[in-house]
Order: sequence, then structure tokens, then C-alpha cells
Amino acid sequence: MTIYFVDGQFTDKDGVRISIDDRGYYFGDGVYEVVKVYNGELFTAQEHMARLLESASKVKMAVPYTEQQLIGIAEELMKKNDIDTGHVYMQVTRGASARVHHFPDMNVPPVVTGYAIVNPRPVLNLQEGVAAKTVEDIRWLRCDIKSLNLLGNVMAKQEAHEAGCVEAIFVRDGIVMEGSSSNMFGILNGIVYTHPATNLILNGITRQVVLEICAELDIPVLEKEFTLEELYMMDEFIMTSTTAEVTPVITIDNKKIGSGVPGPITKKLQEAFAKKLPLTVTGK
Ligand SMILES: *Cc1c(COP(=O)(O)O)cnc(C)c1O
Repeated sequence: MTIYFVDGQFTDKDGVRISIDDRGYYFGDGVYEVVKVYNGELFTAQEHMARLLESASKVKMAVPYTEQQLIGIAEELMKKNDIDTGHVYMQVTRGASARVHHFPDMNVPPVVTGYAIVNPRPVLNLQEGVAAKTVEDIRWLRCDIKSLNLLGNVMAKQEAHEAGCVEAIFVRDGIVMEGSSSNMFGILNGIVYTHPATNLILNGITRQVVLEICAELDIPVLEKEFTLEELYMMDEFIMTSTTAEVTPVITIDNKKIGSGVPGPITKKLQEAFAKKLPLTVTGK
């Protein structure tokens, strides 16, 4: 049975009490994080909790915990749920009060909730690659905030799903942005291209790890806009996220990328990424 964290308490599902007036429910007025667990160890927990506080601060929301306390809660969730390989989900909403758009009174406390769940590594996708579909980016202009407001992302993912694809790639004014829940990288002539970390994308922790790996391996990177036409011409393409890790994208809009199989730089990045994870020698 899953153990949840709700307002300072750990409880099973029956013990969860969430107000119908929660602003997360009415407005999606909150922020969240997903932290991966490998071998009973959180991966890049500090970076994730720092970003949770940053997202909250960008929407002028107080979080009643420090970064260290948030990491502590994530660890507790991981342990209480006995997670070996999986992830911890945590969110903060602006609390519960009668439905008006403007912020509630200062005395309305934010609501912090979370859980941990088993989630194996996407081994098959990592080995074989996945299909993606481009969609128009209809989201707001603060995609740098990991907000609970995910309607644009949900619509995009559904469109991809209906087309038999694993991910949707947002394109805004002809420019490739990111995935509906991942960041995108194109590789052409040995150079790695990805959209710069502006207000128009979420600067993924996995994205940042991949950029760090490129620096370590002397793989040239250009954090620079590229177009939909340029996307189709890439030799290799990858998507990154906490749960997707470094997943090869082998077809986009039913067109093969490169030779349609995971490429050599992709494999190099995957190998280097796996080395950073707290895995056992078997790699499981
Ligand atoms: C969470 C997310 C990502 C990936 O971020 P990670 O920190 O690597 O998991 C990318 N894009 C969007 C829109 C996201 O919500």
C-alpha cells in the first residue's frame, strides 16, 4: 500500500484529507517535482528540490520547508514505500480557500503532498528508441516554471499517444522547443543542439546532466534555437527527463531520423549517463 505525505504526516490513502477548495484543484495553482530513485537512492534530489523552491518563488508561493527538509521528506517517502527503483512525486499548492482568483490570506497555509512509487527504468525505449510527433506549442510563456497547470502538455501528449508516439515535441513559430514532459536534443555533424534555457522551456535536471556530460566528453554543444526543418535533418535525436533518462527518438512525424536507429553519440551519452547513476554492477 502506498504511503503518502500530506501536510506533515505520512499516511495511507484512506488517511489522506485534501480540501475540495484546494487551489491546486481549482486553478492548478501549484508546483511539483519528480525525483528518480535508483537502488534505494535519490538521484539529483538537491537539484530537484532547489527547482521546486525556485518554481514556487516564481509564482510568489511560500513553501513551509527548506531544501534540506524537502529532501528529507522525499527520503522518508522512498523508505516508507520501500522503493528500490522508482520515483518520488512531490507537489505544493497555494492552499485551500473559497474560490477567488487572487491569492488567499497570508494565514492560508500551502498544501504539501507527495508519494513514492515503483517505476522501472525504460530499458526497451532506451535500447530501441521511440517515435515522437510534433505539435503546436499552445502553452503560456512561463514554461520555465514546473507548474501543475499542464493542460497544454496533456493535450499534446494525448495527440502523440493517439498517433502511437511516446512523446509530443512542441514547436512554437517554427522553432523546436521541448517535449510535453521532456527536453529535446538534436545531433548534427557531431554537434549537440538544444533550445536555450529561456522562459519557453523547462530547464530539465536531466538536460543539465546531459550538458555536463557533453562538457566532460568534449562533445560540442550549441544551446541555440533550431527549426522544424532542421529537426528532420538531424543525424540523431534524443529526449531527456527524470524518468525517460536519455531516450533515443528514432522517428518524428513518421520520418526516420538519421538511419532510424539509436546513433553513436546517443549511445555515448547514455553510457556516460548510466555511469552517474547509483546502479549496481548488473545495471539493474
Ligand atoms: C519535468 C519536465 C521536463 C524534464 O525535466 P527533468 O528535470 O529532466 O525531469 C522537461 N519538460 C517539461 C515540460 C517538464 O515538465
